[in-house]
Amino acid sequence: MKEFSGVILVDMDEILVEISPKFYNVVRLNWLKYEPWLNDLGPLTREEILSRKQFLIEKWLMKEKFLNDVDKFKEVKHIIYAGLLQDFFKTDVYKDLEPTNFAKHILMNPVVLEKNEIKKIYILTKYPTNALEMLESKKKFIEKYFKSPKIELLPVPSGKKKSEVVKENNIAWDLFVDDEIVNIKDFVENCNIEGKEFLIPAYGYNKMPELLDFAIKEKGGAYSYYDAI
Ligand SMILES: [Mg+2]
Repeated sequence: MKEFSGVILVDMDEILVEISPKFYNVVRLNWLKYEPWLNDLGPLTREEILSRKQFLIEKWLMKEKFLNDVDKFKEVKHIIYAGLLQDFFKTDVYKDLEPTNFAKHILMNPVVLEKNEIKKIYILTKYPTNALEMLESKKKFIEKYFKSPKIELLPVPSGKKKSEVVKENNIAWDLFVDDEIVNIKDFVENCNIEGKEFLIPAYGYNKMPELLDFAIKEKGGAYSYYDAI
């Protein structure tokens, strides 16, 4: 019989809080800096931003002449990232943001948190090691909204896989919630996923690739999407 650990792993960005609409608006606020490299799509709604087909916003917006040239692409990515480090990552990113409906229904819901079946919820979130301000901002947001002793932050430094941190901490889990297909793929490739489930918000950029769908089923796991836009 399947044994439940009662442990849920949840990603933070675009699961507990939407940061890409803010990211997009920060780029627009500093438009003169980014204008040489990016296409101007004008003001967009959160729905339009979350429906984008490309996960990385800077890649989504990049002018085609840079996308088609490998060396130019690297160079431009570098310039844009240097700007974003100052304008976004090294700021108090989460300060003016609100929890998502998912966060409200699960991590801020006493009915869910009081259930004996739920032992622990780990917030498994990546942060850039060259912008520790972002990790500090994440901590403040978590302290402000997620107060249950069952909820714990598990930070993952950029360059490290989420599955590595889960293994290092010997965490048995039942459910993993994340918006990025690369993170789901990481778990499928590096963890025992038999009897485990993945839950994914339905955005424009994270359709399930056929091969990954096959691998999940082959390894005895399951996945589903929920409406998030
Ligand atoms: Mg995310």
